[in-house]
Formats: sequence, structure tokens, C-alpha cells
Amino acid sequence: MQSTQKTRLVVATGNAHKLREIAEIFTDFEVVSQKQAGFDMEVEENGATFAENALIKARAAAKALDCIALADDSGLCVNALGGAPGIYSARYCGRHGDDKANRDLLLKNIEHVTDRSAYFTSAVALVYPDGKELVAEGRTYGKILKAEQGDGGFGYDPIFESDDLKKSFGLATAEEKNAVSHRFRALQALLEKWREQETK
Ligand code: IMP
Repeated sequence: MQSTQKTRLVVATGNAHKLREIAEIFTDFEVVSQKQAGFDMEVEENGATFAENALIKARAAAKALDCIALADDSGLCVNALGGAPGIYSARYCGRHGDDKANRDLLLKNIEHVTDRSAYFTSAVALVYPDGKELVAEGRTYGKILKAEQGDGGFGYDPIFESDDLKKSFGLATAEEKNAVSHRFRALQALLEKWREQETK
């Protein structure tokens, strides 16, 4: 009888939402969280780019567990601020993960700015135990609102008006946001790269 066992893919994240999104796209794999796989180490994200940070996290999990690992790193880039907060998005206000303070500081810093264009970026990295690596990026474009609209999502969602949805991510349903999100686009691009190299 032919085996139907899928290859295990460990996702280097503690975020259940990300894990579900990844499992829905990477259906060729058995997707498990790093915690389920027994890896609970905090890795220092000291890369200079989103891609470097995604690689740092995926490499650590792949090495520790001797399996294929996937990680993502994401953030918001505001054109008038030269791409800030960028890789520092989670700790823009000086404290890690204080979403409200991050949003308030960003609104203050672009209070008098007319070019409010911005984009979210996500870099995703797939690392094999033998050292093979695949990286892909995705973006979603929009502009920074003058005040919060809606309280859905997380992070900068309430102040980001999506060009695709014509409303803030804070007002969008999870399905609406996921269909156009930077993470979804990065994962799609990564899956394409993975399929290409599988058929080589
Ligand atoms: P991380 O990649 O999950 O560590 O996300 C970095 C930070 O970027 C988050 O803490 C948020 O502030 C911001 N961010 C990333 N993706 C999103 C998003 O989809 N919506 C809102 N904020 C996001």
C-alpha cells in the first residue's frame, strides 16, 4: 500500500493565527508549531532585513529539530519615514508588542505629512536540515489614516487603509484581510518556489 504520510513542516512562531494561515496554504505538508514539535527557544532577531530575520528563526528551528522549518518576519513601512518602522514595527515605541503605543507614535510622527502611502511586508523562509533555503516576500499597499478605524486584526491594522479593500484592515473581516495580506502573498510566492524546485 502507498504511504500517504506528509512531510512535517515546523513553523517557527507562537502565533496561532499565522500557523492556521500557513497550514491552509502549505497543504502538501503536515504543519505543526515549534512548540508542538518541542522547540521553545527564544531566538534573537538581529538581522538587518525582514528576510534575514525570517532566516534566523527558521534556521534555528530546522537545526534544533532536524526538520524542515518555516518562519516569517513582517512589518509596516511608511514611505514618508524612509521605510520606518520597518523591521522595528513591533517595538517602534520602545516596548515590544505595545500595539496601541506603536500606532499612537506613528500617527504623531506623520501628523503633518501629506504623503501617507505605506505598505506591509512579509518575508518567509523555508529551511531544510541539509541547509537548503528558500525565501520569498509579499507586500500589501495602502495609506496611513489620520485616526483609527475599527478594532479588528492586530498591530497597525486600525490605521492602515488597504488599497485593495478600500477600507482599514481594522474594519475588514479576517477572510477579507487574509485574501490580500502581505503574509498570504509571501506564502503563495514561497509555495511557487517550493513547487518549482520539487519538479527540477
Ligand atoms: P511579527 O513579524 O509578527 O513579529 O510582526 C512584527 C510587527 O509588525 C507586529 O508586531 C505588528 O506591529 C506589525 N505587523 C506585521 N504584520 C501586521 C499585520 O498584518 N497587521 C498589522 N500589523 C502588522
